[in-house]
Order: sequence, then C-alpha cells, then structure tokens
Amino acid sequence: MKEIWEKVEAAHQIGICGHVRPDGDCVGTCMALYLYVKKNYPQKAVNVHLEYMPERFAYLFDGTGYQEGFENMPECDLFFSLDTGDLERLGAAAKIVEKADTCICIDHHISNTGFADINVVDPDSSSASQVLFELLDEKKIDKSIATALYLGIVQDSGCFQYDSTSRRTMEIAGILMEKGVNTSNIVDRTMKQKTYVQNQMLGRVLLESLLLLDGQVIASRITQGMMEFYGATKEDLEGIVEQLRVTQGTEVAIFLHEVGVLEYKVSMRSKEYVDVSKIASHFGGGGHVRAAGCTMSGTYHDILNTLLEWIDLQIKDRSK
Ligand code: 5GP
Ligand code: MN
Repeated sequence: MKEIWEKVEAAHQIGICGHVRPDGDCVGTCMALYLYVKKNYPQKAVNVHLEYMPERFAYLFDGTGYQEGFENMPECDLFFSLDTGDLERLGAAAKIVEKADTCICIDHHISNTGFADINVVDPDSSSASQVLFELLDEKKIDKSIATALYLGIVQDSGCFQYDSTSRRTMEIAGILMEKGVNTSNIVDRTMKQKTYVQNQMLGRVLLESLLLLDGQVIASRITQGMMEFYGATKEDLEGIVEQLRVTQGTEVAIFLHEVGVLEYKVSMRSKEYVDVSKIASHFGGGGHVRAAGCTMSGTYHDILNTLLEWIDLQIKDRSK
C-alpha cells in the first residue's frame, strides 16, 4: 500500500479520526497512526481527534497531544477515517471529510460502505489496529505506537478470544510485545478493572435480565433514570453486553441503553450461528457477525419483540 504513504508525503495537513462512542480499537488505531506519522514524518502537520478519550485508556496516551471533540477540528487535505464503517459514524467529523482532497479508510467492519477514496477494509481482521499494522513499516514502530496497536487488538479480539483472532493476530501481538508493550497491565487496566458504578450497573442489568426464545436470547436494558440514579456515564456501560453474552445456553445477548425519549442504543452479541450484523444493518446500524449495534425507536418491549422476530427467523432458517 505504497499509495497511502505517497499521500502522506504529499499532504500538508493530515487529520485522523475514528467513530463516535470510541472503543479501544478506535482509540488504539487512531493513536497508533498519529504517533507513527508524528515520529516518521516530523515535518508534517498532523492532528488526531477523538469524540472523547475514554477514561480507562487515557493513561496510555498522556502528553501525546490528542484532541477531544470534532467541532474544533481544522480542515485538512488528507483525512484518515479509522475503524469506521460509514460516514454517519464519524459524527461531526463527516463534514471535514467533505472538504478534504483525499479520504483514506482503514477498517475491518463487514458492513463498511466503501465511502472513502482509498478503502483498506479487511473484515477477517481482528481489529482495525491489525489492518493498520499491516500497512506500517515494522522497523519504524516504537514502544508507544506498539502500545496503541496492542490496545486495539486486545480490545477488539476480546483478548484473543473471538473467531476473528488468527495466527497472524498472535504473531503481531508477539512482535508488539517485543517492542516493550506492558501487555498484562493493558489487559488488567483497560479490560478487567471496573469502577464501582460500573459494577453496580452490571449487577442491576443482570438482575433485571430476561431469558427469551426458550433461553436462546438474553436481554436487558438501562434507562436514563437508572443512569441518573447511579451517577453513571456511557463509559460505565462498557462490558455489560459481554457479561450477558457469557450466560450459559444463550446464543444472542441484547443490551439496550435508553438515550432519548423512546430511543435506545442497541448492542448485540452472538456466539455461533446468529449474524447480528445483518440485523443491526437492517435497522440502520452495523458491525460484525458476532458483535453489532444500531439505534432504534420504541419502548423496550417493542424493540425487543422486533429484534426477537429477526433472531427467530435466523434460528428457524438454520434448522431447515
Ligand atoms: P457495541 O455494541 O460495542 O456498541 O458495538 C459493536 C459493534 O457494532 C462495533 O464494531 C461497532 O462499531 C458496531 N456498531 C455499534 N453501533 C453501531 C451503529 O449505530 N452503526 C454502525 N454502523 N455500527 C455500529
Ligand atoms: Mn474495531
């Protein structure tokens, strides 16, 4: 992918962004590319904007110069969209893309719409960080870049657990480890550790969860009222759908987060045979076969009923 680095060479102002509600892969990929360009193209003006930096990742990037929020992002001639399947997921940064000469997308979402000028999308890859690694010169990766890439890979592969983890994922992890990444610290602080409020929310969600479709589906939700009661932020909801997913005997986990009047952010996970990306895409969202999301309108029970119909169809199709 020489073309990408030729574009970097020719650019005056480079902008890097990821999707709204950034997760570890989004943050890791954005920070890795930003640090790589800063280190290896020191004469270039480059800036990275995240919608916000989740608190649990911030300690890894102190003093690196990342910006929070898209509103104050300067125009650029070369725009990198990372870990983002469609323009809408860039939020307010989408308008910067329109003004850029070239947009390069580096991603791994199966639902990617190919909206950029240059699209490097590998749906079989564990993470956008893994896709990015393949584009970098290994010799030019230092410890800080390796740390960002490692964060993205462990977060999106569920710590090397999901099907998207390949031999290559493990090899790359090994290479990054040799660059000096503190691997156990990253897993402990960014994946295992939970705030007190996070544990409270998790407890509440599990207590109120419902088993549906003969136990093949587990579902639960958080309302705006609960968020206020516990003083929780969006970040405190991290990991909840994964905990629902590990319930024995279930195929699909559904977690709804009330974000407005009769409006829910939907997170879905599956284990073996339900393609949740198909369902999320139908409702204007997207993601991966085993992890996807969308936003839906209606009451909790209406949304659940709608989703259950779609899941049931897939389950019935399978037994045909
Ligand atoms: P999560 O449930 O953790 O928010 O998201 C799971 C996966 O689905 C992620 O890969 C995420 O990028 C994708 N995803 C979640 N919500 C949306 C959405 O509203 N639109 C799209 N296109 N993808 C989403
Ligand atoms: Mn990702």
